[in-house]
Order: sequence, then structure tokens, then C-alpha cells
Amino acid sequence: MKEIPSEAVTVSHQLMLRSGMINQLAAGVYSYLPLAWRSLRKIENIIREEMDAAGGQELNLPVLQPLEIWQETGRALAFGKGLFVLTDRRERPLALGPTHEEVITQLVSRYVQSYRDLPQRLYQIQTKFRDEPRPRGGLIRVREFIMKDLYSFDADEAGLEASYRKMAQAYRNIYARCGLPALMVEADSGAIGGKDSHEFMLLTATGEDEIIRCPGCGYAANVEKAQSQKGSAGGGKPLPVAEVATPGMATIEEVSSFLNVPARQTIKAVFYTVDGALVFVVIRGDLPVNEVKLKNLLGCVELRLATEAEVKAAGMVAGAASPVGLRGVRVIADDSLHSGTNFVAGGNRPDTHLRNVNFPRDFAADIVADIARARAGQQCARCGGVLEAIRGIEVGHIFKLGTFFTDRLGAVFLDEKGVSRPIIMGCYGIGVGRLLAAAVEQNHDERGIVWPLPIAPYHVYLCPLYRDGTPVAEIAGGLYRELEAAGVEVLYDDRQESPGVKFADADLLGIPLRITVSPRTLAKGSLELKLRWQKEPEIIAREAALGRVRELLSAAGKPASVA
Ligand SMILES: [Zn+2]
Repeated sequence: MKEIPSEAVTVSHQLMLRSGMINQLAAGVYSYLPLAWRSLRKIENIIREEMDAAGGQELNLPVLQPLEIWQETGRALAFGKGLFVLTDRRERPLALGPTHEEVITQLVSRYVQSYRDLPQRLYQIQTKFRDEPRPRGGLIRVREFIMKDLYSFDADEAGLEASYRKMAQAYRNIYARCGLPALMVEADSGAIGGKDSHEFMLLTATGEDEIIRCPGCGYAANVEKAQSQKGSAGGGKPLPVAEVATPGMATIEEVSSFLNVPARQTIKAVFYTVDGALVFVVIRGDLPVNEVKLKNLLGCVELRLATEAEVKAAGMVAGAASPVGLRGVRVIADDSLHSGTNFVAGGNRPDTHLRNVNFPRDFAADIVADIARARAGQQCARCGGVLEAIRGIEVGHIFKLGTFFTDRLGAVFLDEKGVSRPIIMGCYGIGVGRLLAAAVEQNHDERGIVWPLPIAPYHVYLCPLYRDGTPVAEIAGGLYRELEAAGVEVLYDDRQESPGVKFADADLLGIPLRITVSPRTLAKGSLELKLRWQKEPEIIAREAALGRVRELLSAAGKPASVA
């Protein structure tokens, strides 16, 4: 493709369009063309082998699911508009599966009777649907996508732990074998996600996820989940509350510079509308609120910043709102308010603030918890090292679900003593198309894609530069047959194009090894070999070509290192 649509802003989206790997049918809905499909199948096969090796059994579940089972677990509500819902000819509501916890749990409940039937590890590689509000980034965020999802069913926590560890290792193996170094980080498990959860991240400067990492101890977490030491705010001995005039000052920056106190000695008030009710959030002035932590804490469906009208309607003054003297509104405090004394807070009147506000002396909170967003430069909660922020693309997510689904769908088993217990679950996902796009995002240069060999659509780009009266066509044809017979996958560029066009396309497509058959080198009985990531080609005798190709490919096919 020569003309790239303007909405393609990410590198992987642009390169996959330009190289003819994908084509958009509708927003977030793509056709996978032959080159992409070859790579996807390679990724799928690596995943399949690792899932099988970790005790997984492959099956295939229906995409079309009765909406009823989504209502039974409460997830129809939690997914909201993200769930594609349709009605059949008998007016029965159905959903297109965005994931399969409900279906698989119901299935397992029908077959598992006793502890002897456990554990089970069941997976599929299948198309899923999610009505994303903003599909973007080519295959990064789509509405129809291929996913591997495995579900583990165990009799007890120790069993879940074993399944979880096996899966985490299988995931490390998958990324390493794909040639894509990934980092395993602690992740938010959502309001119903259960306990532990980890994501696997491909690190790229343009990734949509922020990761907080400690070089000291190796702690790494999605910023949605990351914790940090918040440090002391100071403030000295608690003093009596005093009003102070702050004409025209509303933001933390304005107030702290006007009163000449650091932001960490102020209290910031933020209003949220949580499932329709106003919630008052207070946090130290230098810290941002982490809305994911807040949402999980409150266990709500919808959380958003309140509008000015909503704040006014509750009788409060935006910009000078104070927790002191507040009534009738739920107050959530970040634990950073314990880190100091004599804070500056709002005065609940325009142009007025209060000095020497002390928590909990001067106001109460309904909940005190960590709801702050961790940042680079803060100290690691574990070792005190200085945290750094890096970016990545999430390419895998594993969860310990516990009994959320099995409780609701009645998936129980009889233990050794004949007591009925809920089965304990885990789930483990990889977005296959997303991994492909992330691979391009991580592996490219200014000329095009640079495929890691294990997931490249082909191993070799065979590039004859035809000229009448030379044996180029004949030699290239012979070489093609020889390589194919040896199991080397060859993309044979037999177009009558100029060397410039062919080389540019070879670089764009990013096939690992280019072999050029030209009249110039053939005159000396030689060919030109060039790995995509090398600058200069090497010249090799025609007879030595297959041996050298094997050598180069075997070196390039080594698994990547994975943290
Ligand atoms: Zn650390």
C-alpha cells in the first residue's frame, strides 16, 4: 500500500498496512492477509506446544452464548457496552464471547464430580469480540481478535498456585521462542479478578501501558497496580486550624505557590461520580489519584470525575472544597494523609483555605487506603531503590480467579471427605494478533519490519535481478527448489521490477534473510546474502549457499531472553 490512511499513527499499524499484512473492513475489524496469517499460525503453534507441554488440552467453545449466563455472574453489567449483544429470531438475547469464563465453568460443572477429576487445564485459540469504545493502533486494540485462553480448575489453593506457576513459565517460554523478550509485571486484577494477576509486556517506547520498575530489586508493576513509598510530608507538631485568604487561588499549584508551602503539605480534593453518587476523594497534593485502585476499592461499575454542576449541587465549592466539616458525602482518603501534619486544605468557601489541617484530628474518612498513582523517582516500597517508568504493550495476562465464577455457576466437586466445595479457577490469555502487532512495534527500523526469525512469514526473501542473456532466472529457480526441499521457507520475488523496488520491498516486509541473484555476482559464480538487520551483504559461492543459509538461520532462531 502506498497511501497510508491518516488514522494509522502507530508504527505497527502503518507497517502492517504498507506491507499488505492486514486490511481494515470496519473500525477495529481486520482481514489478515497471507503474510500476516503465516506469522499468526507460527505464533499459534508455539503457544499450542507450550500449552500442551504445561498440561493443557485444547478444545473449542461457542462464540455465540446465551446472555443469561453473563447475567448469572453479573458480568453482563460489568462489561456493559463492551459486550456485543444480539437477539435471535425467537427474541432470545445472545452475546458474542469476549472471553469464556462463563461457558467453560458451566461445561466443567457438568463433567467434574470429584477431586479425582481435578486438575483440569483447558484452552482454545479462537476469535473473540469486544465492542471497544475507541479501536485503534491497527491490531493493538480491535473489536474482533484471535485469542488463546486457558482456564485452570483445581481442588485447592496449592493446586491453583501450581497451575499458575506452570502457566507463568509457559508464557515465558512462548515469548522467548517467538524471539520477543517480554517482562512479567504485577497487574491490576480488576474488581472481580480475584487475587494475583500478572501481565507480560513487550517493552517499546510507544507502548500504551506504563510500567513502574525498580532496578534495585526487580519489582515491576503496571502503573495501575504499582505501589511506592510516598515519603514524609513533614509539618512538625500539630497546630490549631487557621483560615487563610487565598484570593483567586484554586489549583494545588496556585495555592502552594501563593502560601509558599510545598505541594506535599497540601491536601487535594477530587470529586468523583461513582455509580451515580458523589464521592469525595482526598489525597496529598503532590500525588495523583489512581482511578483503577479507586474503582477496585469501591467495587463500582462506573467511576468518573464529577462535573462542576454535580459538585455545586452537593453544596460544595470546586477549588476550595474541604473535608473539614463535610457531611453527607462519602470520603475516601489516601493513606498519604498519615505521612505529615499541618496540611493546607480547602476552606469550603471561595478564596479561602485552611492551614494546619490534621488527619484524622480534623476530619474523618469512610475508607483510608492506597489510591495514589506511583511515579518514577519515588522510592520502591520493597527495597527503597529509585523507581523508573518504562512503556510497553501488554501481550499476555494471567489471573488467579479463585471461586468467583464457580460459586455463581455452581461448579463444585466432592473432596476426599465427601464434602462439596467450589472449584478454584485461574485464567490465562494471550492476544495473538496483538502479539504480532507488538512484535512489529518492537522490531522495525526506518525502512520496515525486522522480523524475529521464529515468527517471520518466511525465512528467506529470494531476490533475482533479471537481465536478458544471463542465467539469473535459472539459478534463482534452482536455488528456490533446493531451499524449499531443505525445509527453508522462501518468498520468491519473481516480479520484473528494478533492484531498487525489490530491495525496498524486501526491507519493508522484513524477511530475515535476503538472497540476491544478480548478473554481477553470478559472473563469479556467487550470490549475495544479507540478514535484514545487517548493513552489508556477504558474497558466497553458489554451491555453499544452502549450508550458509542453514548456519545463519539457526543462529537467528535462538530464543530471546525473557525477564
Ligand atoms: Zn526495589
